[in-house]
Amino acid sequence: MIIYFIGTGGSEGIPAHLCTCKTCKEARRLGFAQRKPSTLAVITKNNEAILIDVGTDIRDLLHVPLKGILLTHWHHDHIYGLYKLRWMAQKTELYAPKGHADALILNDPKNLKPKTIKAGDVLKIDSLRITALRLNHEVETVGFLIEEDGERFALLYDTKGIPPETLDILKKKPPRVAVVDATYAPGVDDPYHNNVDEGAKIGLEVAEKVYLSHISHKNLPFLQLLAHVRKKYGDNVRVAYDGLIVHI
Ligand SMILES: [Zn+2]
Ligand SMILES: [Zn+2]
Ligand SMILES: [Zn+2]
Repeated sequence: MIIYFIGTGGSEGIPAHLCTCKTCKEARRLGFAQRKPSTLAVITKNNEAILIDVGTDIRDLLHVPLKGILLTHWHHDHIYGLYKLRWMAQKTELYAPKGHADALILNDPKNLKPKTIKAGDVLKIDSLRITALRLNHEVETVGFLIEEDGERFALLYDTKGIPPETLDILKKKPPRVAVVDATYAPGVDDPYHNNVDEGAKIGLEVAEKVYLSHISHKNLPFLQLLAHVRKKYGDNVRVAYDGLIVHI
């Protein structure tokens, strides 16, 4: 399978409108440092696509039928794109946890077919086996362990640390790649999100390779962030960016 990172930013995206912080200024100079809110696609071995979170409009980036849409949670930076996507010309299942659900989308889903999932649930979509994992966030949030023919990757955002039950599942079935919440700069302690080093540590505890994602403009500027991560973790931890493709 292939992971396609469509959006790797936090709520505000980078650059945030009119923001003059170093991270936003850099992103206006360097296109690759710009980030849309969290949106990720998985392309299966059969060339089918599923979408995990829809933080942005995907039409110019992934104009294919979707075998399903999964939400980690209902915070706005993970659902913006759904307001438009629900008009798509094909009925599509939307699997999401209950907490904090958006009334507009649930009362008027158009062609989305909402279904509730909770931590521990297992879904089979095309060639994928997807296990919902409990995460530690402000509202009910699930990550996902996604398996295809014995290859696995884990998506772990939004979260601060990970609950022991999720760690247990991941230790039993270690993913090759973990995509982990790394919203904030090193040293920042937030109750709902990891900083870069917390994200790297969690990722390395469960997977061979780590991609840090859900990166806020309050994080280090992109080039500084790359230098920090490379110096501290070498090749095993990488900073995800919009447009990145990873083969699992
Ligand atoms: Zn978020
Ligand atoms: Zn900024
Ligand atoms: Zn969130």
